[in-house]
Amino acid sequence: MEKNLASEINYLRLSITDRCNLRCLYCTTWDKWEKLPAPEILRYEEMLRLAGVAAAVGLRKVRVTGGEPLVRRGVVEFIQALHQVSGLEEICLTTNGVLFKDLAQDLHAAGLRHVNVSLDSLKRARYRELTGSDNLWEVLSGLEQAAALGFHPLKINCVVLKGINDDELLDFALLARDRPYQVRFIEFMPTISPERWRPHFFSMEEVRRRLAAALGQGVPVGRNPTAGPARIFHFPGFRGELGFISTLSQHHCPTCNRLRLTAAGRLRPCLFAAPELDLKGPLRRGESDEALGQIFREAMQRKTAPRDDLPPGCAMIGIGG
Ligand code: SAM
Repeated sequence: MEKNLASEINYLRLSITDRCNLRCLYCTTWDKWEKLPAPEILRYEEMLRLAGVAAAVGLRKVRVTGGEPLVRRGVVEFIQALHQVSGLEEICLTTNGVLFKDLAQDLHAAGLRHVNVSLDSLKRARYRELTGSDNLWEVLSGLEQAAALGFHPLKINCVVLKGINDDELLDFALLARDRPYQVRFIEFMPTISPERWRPHFFSMEEVRRRLAAALGQGVPVGRNPTAGPARIFHFPGFRGELGFISTLSQHHCPTCNRLRLTAAGRLRPCLFAAPELDLKGPLRRGESDEALGQIFREAMQRKTAPRDDLPPGCAMIGIGG
């Protein structure tokens, strides 16, 4: 097995709920999806303890995700408490943005500055078809408010879906010209059946080719050590930046620096590779921080080499993206 080449595994994606207020068509096969029974979901105090253990074994950045993290009651207080965990240097949130507008002020007061908002269409009817909800306005005004409050970086994640939103690439890109957003285009991963996924896969190479025809190539922007897999570019006259994430056509396994902790308390070394390691069992049996830290270390060891085989649909709602 090849070694993971990331100099450090320093980034934990922490899913705080499997519940979501949207039903994005591509996220999972909804008629087969079953929510976790509430007692199976980690309590906030359990997550805080695990975050402390993660920091003790070297993780520096935590991204709070879901499901939709903002639907879980107490999320603002939790994020505030996460900022107090010794050893963590960066706390981020990934949200669909629907509830962000109403919580933005409180989240800012809780110390949060880094937010990613997932948004796949700027057209109201299409947004409604894709997500099953009529909340585009709420998302866009949440973004405006976040910019006004000084959230930075403020990232928009757009999954590019051939035949569905690939006519909006330039509209998304121009958001970064006019506003201080980092707009990131993401390759569609096979989280649903191959027959439903394949026709809508659109490679990042093609995204870049299309945008280059209108905007030029852009200038690559340097990365920091906890940065994710996006390749970021600045374009003349832009207030923000554009990013490209080619998870499938150019997998970034050798430099992947992240672990994922699901709401059910399972630690996942790789997005696309089971198995997961159970943390909830040992935690609830009263194991020591040292023993829990050992499980994090084991997950770090289990990060694998690039995979050419794709696993069958893995539900993003349960993993947190
Ligand atoms: N609800 C939050 C949100 O919308 O950001 C967090 C969870 S959501 C599962 C995390 C991210 O996964 C979103 O940006 C979503 O677009 C992305 N995602 C879900 N299914 C995907 C797929 N098949 N391919 C690429 N990204 C996907």
